[in-house]
Amino acid sequence: MRELIETGLAQLGLAPQTPPAAPAQLERFGRLLLEKNQVMNLTAITDPADVATLHMLDCAALLTCGDFGGKTLIDVGTGAGFPGVPLKILEPTLTVTLLDALGKRVDWLNETCHALGLEGIAAVHGRAEEAGREAQLRERFDFATARAVAELRVLCELCLPFVRPGGFFLAMKGTDCQQELDRALPVIQALGGAVEGWRDYAIPHTHVSHRVIIVKKTAETPFQYPRRWAKIQKAS
Ligand code: SAH
Repeated sequence: MRELIETGLAQLGLAPQTPPAAPAQLERFGRLLLEKNQVMNLTAITDPADVATLHMLDCAALLTCGDFGGKTLIDVGTGAGFPGVPLKILEPTLTVTLLDALGKRVDWLNETCHALGLEGIAAVHGRAEEAGREAQLRERFDFATARAVAELRVLCELCLPFVRPGGFFLAMKGTDCQQELDRALPVIQALGGAVEGWRDYAIPHTHVSHRVIIVKKTAETPFQYPRRWAKIQKAS
């Protein structure tokens, strides 16, 4: 895993800014993930080389989409910690909140971040549509991120309320997401967001390309958002 990670980070142009300890830490995180995956459902990816590329390098590519130094970030529907944990390892000055609706995953993440010696990262148990109404989380973050959680229309309503005006929501998607984006545009505007653009990247050592949709928070989110889950799902 280590060599794939190291050469992959170089291919992404991230080598100069990568802390020396990061490749070993990412590998250790990957090993802890695979070990726990034997007894808890954390990831469908079980080959160490795929963990290095499809998890670690895929998430690392987000660092090419903004300057995260000294910023705050919430990773919504983080699951086993993607992309939040690799981002923290690669940018140690970033303060990270990992949010997930599954308590067991949250407990494992807190244990694992502690085992990795990471500080300034905490996993929180909760549903995004409820947490986004809490004063200590609403409009508090420079960045929100999400990968593989919901379609963009739903995802924007789950994530944009956490972002302070002037901050960004970075949605990790496939390169075939144009229709999803079109469907999300009305709600993005209603939530106080605007699509700034997107960035396509190839995951090193694979034939997979992904897209990051960059949504800027231009105004405060109106108080009626986020709505209840059933309502978000149903709304068009
Ligand atoms: N982002 C991770 C995990 C994707 S699986 C990755 O890319 O690997 C989706 C995760 O989102 C699950 O862990 C699920 O519990 C969480 N999730 C789904 N809906 C959610 C919601 N409304 N609020 C918080 N977490 C949610």
